[in-house]
Amino acid sequence: MIPCPICQRANPVIESLNKQINQARGPKEKAPFAKQLLTKVEDVLAEHGPTGDPAAKACLSVLGLRKTTVELILKAQKLAD
Ligand SMILES: [Zn+2]
Repeated sequence: MIPCPICQRANPVIESLNKQINQARGPKEKAPFAKQLLTKVEDVLAEHGPTGDPAAKACLSVLGLRKTTVELILKAQKLAD
């Protein structure tokens, strides 16, 4: 699947934050990157706008999954406090 231009532009940043999250040890180290990623994903979601465009549907579901994952990481961090 070829990502739309918005996602194509955002993906390097998202991937690099994902990498930093994966390399971080423990929830406390992951949290700052997770917060950045959450902000980024929300920005990218907003950029897609309130659209019924079928092409954007795939984007929104991928971004939704990323958001859920990040929220789980942040939740784990709160529990570890
Ligand atoms: Zn997209």
